[in-house]
Amino acid sequence: MEHNASEGDDCTLYWTDSSVTLDRLLGIKPYQKINHFPGMMDLCRKDMLAKNLNRMAKSFPKDYNIFPRTWCLPADYSDFQAYSQAKKHKTFICKPNTGSQGRGIFLVRSAREVPHGEHLTCQLYISKPFIIDGFKFDLRIYVLVTSCDPFHIFLHQEGLARFCTSHYCHPARANMEDACMHLTNYSINKRSENFVRDENAGSKRKLSALMRLLEQRSCDVAKLWLDIEDLVIKTLASAHSILSHNYHACFPRHSKPACFELLGFDVLLDHKLKPWLLEVNHSPSFATDSPLDREVKDRLLSDTLLLVNPGACERRKAESSRRRSSRASKQSKECRNVQAEEEAQRDLRTLRYEDHHLGGYKRIFPQEGGDKYSQFLQHSSSLFQETAASRAREECTRVQLQELYERQGGSGSRAEPRGGLEGDSVGENRRTMNRRTSSRFTDHNRTNKLAAGRPHFVPALAAVCEHWEVEGAREEEKHLRWLQRSAQLDPAKKPSLSPEAPGTLGLFPPLGPQRQQSSSKVCPSESYGDLHVIAAPAPIHKRPS
Ligand code: ADP
Repeated sequence: MEHNASEGDDCTLYWTDSSVTLDRLLGIKPYQKINHFPGMMDLCRKDMLAKNLNRMAKSFPKDYNIFPRTWCLPADYSDFQAYSQAKKHKTFICKPNTGSQGRGIFLVRSAREVPHGEHLTCQLYISKPFIIDGFKFDLRIYVLVTSCDPFHIFLHQEGLARFCTSHYCHPARANMEDACMHLTNYSINKRSENFVRDENAGSKRKLSALMRLLEQRSCDVAKLWLDIEDLVIKTLASAHSILSHNYHACFPRHSKPACFELLGFDVLLDHKLKPWLLEVNHSPSFATDSPLDREVKDRLLSDTLLLVNPGACERRKAESSRRRSSRASKQSKECRNVQAEEEAQRDLRTLRYEDHHLGGYKRIFPQEGGDKYSQFLQHSSSLFQETAASRAREECTRVQLQELYERQGGSGSRAEPRGGLEGDSVGENRRTMNRRTSSRFTDHNRTNKLAAGRPHFVPALAAVCEHWEVEGAREEEKHLRWLQRSAQLDPAKKPSLSPEAPGTLGLFPPLGPQRQQSSSKVCPSESYGDLHVIAAPAPIHKRPS
């Protein structure tokens, strides 16, 4: 893109390949769109992806057999060690959590070879990949998400196949360091003298060319596509609750989707043509150094812009809709019902628009037969499900909020909208949703810390509340829920947004001057065990294809 938007630009589309600040996200107007969802880092950092998918695999081992077995070191070191001792013939691939372009990756035959205490993602190495002409390759699949609640997911039919440039051999001591044999990264292989530029037989090919070749070899390409779609939906489903929670916290009154995201899924096929997810890139490279690249990426970008339709949202209409929405939140139940009906109509119109402007995309969710994914979507909210610890935290938070409002001079009942905070809390809502889901996220240490009380945390909450533009009971409830969840954080783990406001980072930042002044780069989300908050200091890294 030629145009560099400045802070003051009043654009309709904000596209960034690098980091997206929380300020930027919160400053998105109802008629604007930005190309990242807050919380997508839960899928795009190697360690977080592994945590999400491991969590789902524990509950759905057969369904979530889409990701090679992975350990997040140093936390999972003993498990990794035990596994490697039991399976002596296996090979593992170790990756830096925020690495890209194959940097810092190495293969090992045993856990003993991994430096103790290192922060790495270690994965079972797929030692029997699908081989074409003697070379290992992987697939770059482009996936567009135009809404996260409900999910609207599209898969582009064109993508890339990236080949190694050394003939593949089963991993052995003698070849473990041959990057051009084991790593399919373009950035590594393009430097090899064996790199071939040829659309149909080269080291980088169009996905469609590869699929044609597989068909010629009597492979079941239709099944392969279905398996890839399944892998994509399941991966996104694992982060559904985080994405929707963050989205609603950031954009409580946007009538049109404020975000979309074009993701690059890296997929490896094993010798049985089963696709395995390797990683998800939130800013796939649009660099083009060949006609093939240009063809694929130009088409991808134009199809994306058409589908996202950034110009469709008229400024005047969007603003008036936002005003109506905030008025309705103060009004009667009937008014809110009318508004809900309007929203449903709008969603229907969006679905219709999308279906008529797919270009090279295929809608993969929602689609007929998509009901089978409901269990995963619901289960992903187990992040917020009730545990003994969460009950203790809720009680502690309830007391803190009560104190907070009393200090602000409001009546205590403000902290208990509609029949009591506890009964209408996030935990309670999730409790209803997950009644049949067992608890898996108990953290007694954190409970104990919270039970001991955190007096320094309450003023921070108060500071945030002072700045909030709380309009109407519905919004207030949402914010209270956010406060509750944020108040459950262990302050020791929280990085600070600004030196003036230590301890406030886990909270939805104020919509006042304090927020506008902050220029710190923050990534949109961070996980703290079973909790999730907006704002963390790690930048979003650019990932080349
Ligand atoms: P990066 O972000 O640094 O590119 P990846 O996770 O994509 O890291 O891994 C780089 C390359 O290593 C992949 O493109 C693939 O060729 C190879 N690779 C990664 N994980 C595995 C695995 N589990 N089994 C076999 N090969 C792998």
